[in-house]
Parts: sequence; C-alpha cells; structure tokens
Amino acid sequence: MNCAPHAAPSTGTCARCGAFACAQCFAGTTLCAACRERVAPDALRGEKAVRFARASWAFPLLAILVLGFYAPGTDGTTAAIILCTMCAFGVAFGVAALRTDRGQRTRGVRGHAVVGLILSSVPFVAFLVGVVLAVIGR
Ligand SMILES: [Zn+2]
Ligand SMILES: [Zn+2]
Repeated sequence: MNCAPHAAPSTGTCARCGAFACAQCFAGTTLCAACRERVAPDALRGEKAVRFARASWAFPLLAILVLGFYAPGTDGTTAAIILCTMCAFGVAFGVAALRTDRGQRTRGVRGHAVVGLILSSVPFVAFLVGVVLAVIGR
C-alpha cells in the first residue's frame, strides 16, 4: 500500500487513525500527515498551558526570594508593592494556564496552576486580613 499524501510505499500505519503512512510521514512522529495536523494545535496549547502554570508559581517564589535578599534594605511599602506586583503576575498566569488548558487536562497543568494561585493569593489575603484587622481595631 502507498500512503495517500506522498504516494510512497507505506512503512506502517498511523498510531491514531490506522491509515497507511510512509517514512516521510513518520519523520519524528507515529502519526500520518492528516493526524499530525489535527493534533499539533492541541499539543502546542498544552505546552503553553504548562509554561503558564509554571510561571504562576515561579512569580510568587521569585518575589519571596527577591524580598529575602533585599528586604533588609527596603521599607515595608516597597516590599509590599514588589510582592503584590509579582503575585498579581502569578495569579494572571495561573488563570491563563487553566483557561488555555480548558477541556484538555494536560498533565501537570492543573496541579501547578492551583499551587501557583494559592501561593500568589497569599499576599492579597494577608493584605485583606490586615485591612479587616485595622478596621476592627479602630
Ligand atoms: Zn492518522
Ligand atoms: Zn507519506
């Protein structure tokens, strides 16, 4: 049998649809040309979601590291601004990861994004608690 797109002798069948595929089809994949095109956008989306998810916890961690090194030299307001800005990025990336991955469930996205969202929301929760305490204490 020949593969349909290249009219070349097949060297096997596609792992997804079972169509005959030639050596050219199988370059770097186990799929036929048609399936590769169909699957590629999803895979790319998954990769993007994984990157967003990692960024979502990398930002709050980085904020903590930065503050750890520089906090002694900075006043409280500067530290709070740095922390909140970086954690806002963390929240944005966590939400972006979950949205990009919606309906796909790429491995490792949900866990990372949830951890990132929790880490990133800590300073905001702390800030809110501080405001509430200040109001109550008055
Ligand atoms: Zn196929
Ligand atoms: Zn082919």
